[in-house]
Amino acid sequence: EEFLGADEREADRMTRLVKDLLQLSRLDYNREKLNKKEINVIEVIKGAVFKVDISLEAKNQNLKSLFVESNIEIFADKDRLEQVLINILSNAIKYTHEEGEITLDVVRTLEHAKIIIEDNGMGISEKEVPKLFDRFYRVDKARSRAMGGTGLGLSIAKQIVTEHGGNIEITSEEGQGTTVTITLPLLE
Ligand code: ATP
Ligand code: MG
Repeated sequence: EEFLGADEREADRMTRLVKDLLQLSRLDYNREKLNKKEINVIEVIKGAVFKVDISLEAKNQNLKSLFVESNIEIFADKDRLEQVLINILSNAIKYTHEEGEITLDVVRTLEHAKIIIEDNGMGISEKEVPKLFDRFYRVDKARSRAMGGTGLGLSIAKQIVTEHGGNIEITSEEGQGTTVTITLPLLE
């Protein structure tokens, strides 16, 4: 049973790797058809939170939603945006200790919706932060592999956000935590 379990995990990892690579390749060659519509970014955020809830619970982590807005309209592909958010939230969960805290905020600026996801986890050293969006880049290879990642999540996230005319930024302090800020243009 132990061997089968390990085989299954490896197979899952390979499946995810192939899917991620295919998506990146489609994004590279502009073959990923984005289905952009007028959507409420708050709804998408709530959907993503719902989907990571199980992982939060498994690690006894607390997710604090700070936002008060209930409707911020943007022009975006709902599924791709949800994928980005799930990715960033999953990172926050994966790279934060049990009982850790994740906060989520969304604010409307003059021209943008700004989504801020902050954790109080292991963080990333200053010199590694610029490399995070590189394909296959993982800060601690041994540790990350145990967590089942492929190191493509953030590069896909960046590509999708860029395709929406947005921006994604990471600030972090080793041992203190990480903040990811996604900025997306508001609907005109
Ligand atoms: P994948 O997302 O493909 O399953 P991954 O999580 O390893 O795998 P990325 O999401 O691209 O890959 O992240 C790259 C690396 O950045 C991670 O391996 C991890 O070392 C580091 N990282 C990402 N988010 C955080 C975070 N919130 N706190 C600490 N380290 C992080
Ligand atoms: Mg990831």
